[in-house]
Amino acid sequence: MKIVIAQMKHETNTYSPVPTPLARFALGGEVPPAGQQAYAAYKGTGSAIGAFIELAEGAGAQIEIAIAASAWPSGLVENSAYEFICDKVCTAVAAGCDAVLLDLHGAMVTQTFEDGEGELLRRLRAINKSVPIGVALDMHTNFYPAIAEHATVVAGYQTYPHVDMFETGQRAGRAILALLAGQARPAMAWGNKPMLPHVMRQGSDDSPNRELQARCKEMERDGALCASVFVGFPNADIHNAGLSAVVVTDGDAALARRWCDELLEMAWAQRKGFVYEIEALPASMARARQLADASDGKTGPIVLLDHSDNCASGGTMDTMTVLGAMLDAGLTDAAAFAIFDPTAVQQMMRAGVGATVTLPLGGKLDMPSIGLTGQPRTVTGRVRLISDGVYRNYGPMARGETNHMGPTVVLVVGGIEIVVISNHVEPHDLAAFTAVGIAPERKTYLMLKSRVHWRAGLRALARGIVECAGTGVCTSDYALLNFKHVRRPIYPLDAL
Ligand SMILES: [Zn+2]
Repeated sequence: MKIVIAQMKHETNTYSPVPTPLARFALGGEVPPAGQQAYAAYKGTGSAIGAFIELAEGAGAQIEIAIAASAWPSGLVENSAYEFICDKVCTAVAAGCDAVLLDLHGAMVTQTFEDGEGELLRRLRAINKSVPIGVALDMHTNFYPAIAEHATVVAGYQTYPHVDMFETGQRAGRAILALLAGQARPAMAWGNKPMLPHVMRQGSDDSPNRELQARCKEMERDGALCASVFVGFPNADIHNAGLSAVVVTDGDAALARRWCDELLEMAWAQRKGFVYEIEALPASMARARQLADASDGKTGPIVLLDHSDNCASGGTMDTMTVLGAMLDAGLTDAAAFAIFDPTAVQQMMRAGVGATVTLPLGGKLDMPSIGLTGQPRTVTGRVRLISDGVYRNYGPMARGETNHMGPTVVLVVGGIEIVVISNHVEPHDLAAFTAVGIAPERKTYLMLKSRVHWRAGLRALARGIVECAGTGVCTSDYALLNFKHVRRPIYPLDAL
């Protein structure tokens, strides 16, 4: 038995000016790894592709890893990158196999295709009409009919932050192995609702997503092979952005339909719970200070979340609004992760450790889609540390995977240690800080360019949480996003 395994993961923010060439998928190299190199990168990690490898080996299958291509969210995927990745997967499948296991994101928009995953699956089906294809998808999938039409089994993450990537790969992979063994006949139903849940309200520890995901798990206990609610990714101006559900049963199409509809009705009834109320930045700053000053006996930092500019939603990660407000407010004993500014990093590396530098920090990228130009902030500070920016996640999210921040500098400005990076990486793992010699649990304030993923590795440390409305293409204000292509009417853009 031969199984082709591949990964193609990208969440596309159609408002983001950050380019998405092939190199962004390459884990610090020039092209994404394949074969043995991909095996070494993902075997034993907490990823869906890691689960596929383990399952296929357990089944005694011959494995071919066509490509392992994962990039941090950004703007439209360049056609040349997309075609390179698809060609690798198509070539491997064309050579013949008994099954295909794909670790996809589910919100990839290319320069040509609104539904990158659906197009890949369509091409694979054109090569082989009957080969079983199992797909693991991110909870932020914007689902398109072509995915359901051409995949045999679809399973989505049931947690946000995504700490069950491995388990999701197991669910998709086991259903395909059962099919190959003649022990299951997957029957799939999907559907969507005209609603754009706000990312800040999508955490699976919070209602209403907590209850939706719990119901999915219950359906799986009651016999569903995979039950998934996709909360969707709203910073994508495409027709099918928004919430959807997929249920796969063993041979019972009517039950799959009924359960899928139940999940959709449940989500629709709770749509108000997915609407986010924004706090103005000055009020957030005042509240952060109050929380820090409160002598409530607790320890740990007050976490300030710059939710308009996190790179895991395609942010430039270089807007200075929230960090600037912290500097203006004179907050001290603080750390900030991170500002993306490769130019500043190079300048600080030339200056060297211990040097005092004055430079324009951040604000290098314009954001024409939301009418903003980059606004650097000139700061004076001391270069405390220079690093190669490589670290391995402790977990629980993406456990064991290696991150490449590129050349990285810790710059101390006033009382704030600012991590300045050359590649986008969102802080969801304690290792992001230990890699650069910062103990976040000992800080009074911790500024994170993150929305929900930070909770995976850092929430347990937080004494208080303040959600700060900065600026950027991950803006939490839908009114700033000029939606043209998403289907209308849709809640809450339209009163439904
Ligand atoms: Zn996601």
